[in-house]
Amino acid sequence: MDNNKNNKKNSNNKKGNKFNIYWIYGIIILLLLFFNIIGSGFGGGQEIDYKKFKSLAENGDINRLEIVNKSEAKVFIKKSRLDSEEFKDISQDAFSLNQPHYTFNIGTVDALETRLEKINSELAEENQLYPVYKTEYSWTSALTYIIPIVLIIAIWIFIMRRMSGGAGGPGAQIFNIGKSKATLFDKDTKVNVTFQDVAGLDEAKEEVMEVVDFLKNPKKYTSLGGKIPKGVLLVGPPGTGKTLLAKAVAGEAEVPFFTISGSDFVEMFVGVGASRVRDLFRQAREKAPCIIFIDEIDAIGRARGRNSIQGGNDERENTLNQLLVEMDGFSSEKGVILMAATNRPDVLDTALLRPGRFDRQIGIDRPDLNGREQIFEVHLKHIKVSVDVNAEVLAEMTPGFAGAEIANVCNEAALIAARRDKKKVDMEDFNYALDKVIGGLEKKNKLISPSEKKVIAYHEAGHAICGWFLEHASPLVKVTIVPRGIGTLGYAQYLPKEEYITSTEQLLDRMCMTFGGRAAESIIFGKVSTGAQNDLDQITKMAYSMIAIYGMNDNVGNISFHGLQKDQINKPYSEETSALIDSEVRKMVQFQFERAKALLTDKREELEILAKALLEREVVVKSDLEELIGPRPFPEPEKLKNDEVSVTSEDENTSVE
Ligand code: ADP
Repeated sequence: MDNNKNNKKNSNNKKGNKFNIYWIYGIIILLLLFFNIIGSGFGGGQEIDYKKFKSLAENGDINRLEIVNKSEAKVFIKKSRLDSEEFKDISQDAFSLNQPHYTFNIGTVDALETRLEKINSELAEENQLYPVYKTEYSWTSALTYIIPIVLIIAIWIFIMRRMSGGAGGPGAQIFNIGKSKATLFDKDTKVNVTFQDVAGLDEAKEEVMEVVDFLKNPKKYTSLGGKIPKGVLLVGPPGTGKTLLAKAVAGEAEVPFFTISGSDFVEMFVGVGASRVRDLFRQAREKAPCIIFIDEIDAIGRARGRNSIQGGNDERENTLNQLLVEMDGFSSEKGVILMAATNRPDVLDTALLRPGRFDRQIGIDRPDLNGREQIFEVHLKHIKVSVDVNAEVLAEMTPGFAGAEIANVCNEAALIAARRDKKKVDMEDFNYALDKVIGGLEKKNKLISPSEKKVIAYHEAGHAICGWFLEHASPLVKVTIVPRGIGTLGYAQYLPKEEYITSTEQLLDRMCMTFGGRAAESIIFGKVSTGAQNDLDQITKMAYSMIAIYGMNDNVGNISFHGLQKDQINKPYSEETSALIDSEVRKMVQFQFERAKALLTDKREELEILAKALLEREVVVKSDLEELIGPRPFPEPEKLKNDEVSVTSEDENTSVE
């Protein structure tokens, strides 16, 4: 990768810089020491006090007195006197070096003058002392001026280098902050994802295939006057393969691919986001033809002017404006195509979605049964599986799963098989992996008393039996009472029908089935437990939605208050309607609870059989249940062909409690 290479180069430079700078510091310190030593050497002469000086003067030994820099006195002894015993220990060759024999600190010049006057008055004329004043520049005193300046310059250069020294150093960001953070995949770091790796999503693939074709063969389209969309927006829930699809486009088109996340534009400094957008598009234009992929574009593309608080929002708006400007500014003939992904198309700014910008929107939904089977096939290719592993069965067992979850199940299964020292991954590993993905990690040592376990078994059996004998409820896939994850004591998993719309009967049966757990507890033990909290939560939501949103209640009527209620106070309906909704919800919920109880009283025998089986084996799957209580008395939901189905992403179908 280019970036990496640059980084490496920079970091090498950095090492070189550091090395040099420490050498410079070292040299400066050595020089200081050197001049200090030499400097003191040049000064020469033995240091004496005033008393000694006075006695020298009185004896007439002094030849010359120099006052240097108004602070130090240099005393030169008469040559004729040097031979005497008194001066035996002072430097004999001082004269040849023009150095003083003695030095002393004068204090102030005035003080010295007064003292000298006094001495002179007592001396003979020829011995009187009149000092010569001199100014000397010593190396040490010069250095005291030079060194701070040199140090300041050195530090300044050092800081500047670190700041502008490219990525890596902490200061680097200050100068690179406006640069785009996009990762580039090009010739050296090829994207090796192709459409083969993307299972299902046939329509989406077809749409983006055109983009690939254009990038490879632009003349074909432009010669007819057609314009290729500038932007392609992939919309869908997380983990459904949006990033994968964008990568596959780059892999197939064999062009450079810039990938960046919407949040990478946002920084606490004003103007940075816009500058990053500009930089990204500049880089892209240099590399054209290429693809820019912005993941989670809702981070910058949110509708402007809404919930505007202050500061931060303006910065995001500026970033978005810059993005809009750039999108208008570049023409797709240049071969730069912008792809973006989001799971919140509803919050995006309309300006972003208008034709000419993201004019092509591709919806990517959770995969249906066929889609899941294909995704399993893609991922099973990469692991060694035994013959009993069947993508179709796995797809049936994973209603509501997105591609990412399927990939996760496959990976978990492979890891579990490896942990168990198996040569191949078998169905048992997949079952275990599924449980882990749905319910969390098995808590082997979670202590549950036998009586508690019995309650859990009857609760789960209650759900399962209700689902089994209610025509419009989803049939059971699996029920388990192995404690998992945080607070999960067991769960029942159902196979939902893959449909666009849900009927009132289906919702009511689903509500009744969700009550199955509490109803079973109340029938068998005569009391209820806290275990049904999650069920009640779902039921309440379902009931309110049916009445106030879907218009499924005769007394409230065909009215939907969806999205109208702004807060607790500003309700879009009167107090009477509010009371009516509440009472209808209560009525509906109570009715379904009674219905579940009646059903389970009727099927008590089956309930007991399943609960006992659960207590024994902990896990019961559909085929076991058929063996235990006979087949479900309703026709199996027929499997729809690929072109007839879509997916209802109703998570509540996989109820975990
Ligand atoms: P998104 O961007 O929609 O959140 P990703 O594209 O990052 O999801 O998908 C995450 C992972 O899920 C992918 O790396 C891939 O392993 C798997 N995956 C998702 N959808 C598919 C698919 N249609 N075919 C194959 N694998 C898929």
